[in-house]
Amino acid sequence: MTHKHSANRLTLAFFLNFFFTIIEIVGGILTNSIALISDAIHDLGDAVSIGLAVYFEHKASKKPDHEFTYGYHRYSLLGALIAAFGLVIGVIFIIIEAVKRIMNPEAINAELMIYFAFAGILINGIAAWHTQKGKTLSEKAVGLHLWEDVIGWALLLLASILMHYTDLLLIDAILSIGFSLFILFHVFRHLKKVIDVLMEKAPNEPKIEELRKVLMDTDGVNDIHHLHYWSLEGDKKLFTAHVVLEPNLDSSDTDRIQRKLHDQLHQLGIDHATLEFEKEDECMSKEDCGPLSDG
Ligand SMILES: [Zn+2]
Ligand SMILES: [Zn+2]
Ligand SMILES: [Zn+2]
Repeated sequence: MTHKHSANRLTLAFFLNFFFTIIEIVGGILTNSIALISDAIHDLGDAVSIGLAVYFEHKASKKPDHEFTYGYHRYSLLGALIAAFGLVIGVIFIIIEAVKRIMNPEAINAELMIYFAFAGILINGIAAWHTQKGKTLSEKAVGLHLWEDVIGWALLLLASILMHYTDLLLIDAILSIGFSLFILFHVFRHLKKVIDVLMEKAPNEPKIEELRKVLMDTDGVNDIHHLHYWSLEGDKKLFTAHVVLEPNLDSSDTDRIQRKLHDQLHQLGIDHATLEFEKEDECMSKEDCGPLSDG
């Protein structure tokens, strides 16, 4: 799997979602179905998210410089924030429209909706089946998303059949509110991850206790304190700590231990470790050097 392949699949997913957005907007206008329009908002949100992810991932690969000493990895968080903002606005618009329709139901061309839903299941199903063969995390996420969209089309089909054989036009507005809540659920779940990174929450894997234990268990280490552990963008991990070595070590022992500690951290997946070595009772920091509380 080359990088080009994965970029191609994402580009394909981008255009597919964009294509569905247009189909659903046209379908929504022709049938007067707000449920179709809300699914269009969903697909437009997906298209924009994918587009921004590709764009910002490219920017994020820029090397660090004197202005941005960590590099540009956090650019990838911006895409998620912008997409979330746009989706929330879209969803508010849909919910207002749906509530209006619940109070004053409007005529819907349910028969035409059935044809749109059939076509949607078919085209979206093929796209999902094709995309899920991808290997990278973002491709898998896109593939999963497309299957969710197939379920969305199936619900649209069910709703349109029900409306065709009954006169329960409310179903359309209720389904659109359901779609909206589903979109919001996704947005907030994603936002939480982004906010955790911005709040410099310690990554879940490996646990900070595990890092501490590995360092503490290294021969020649007496104490580890003043730990900081955070992530640049959810994947790249950074770690700093004060390390108290045993007294009376010669300089070759000290060098060996320092190298070993760094190697162990790298093996555990830490991308950037900074360790300050100190002797007992000689903490270099004016900050509190005591242990971290459990929160
Ligand atoms: Zn989706
Ligand atoms: Zn500190
Ligand atoms: Zn210290």
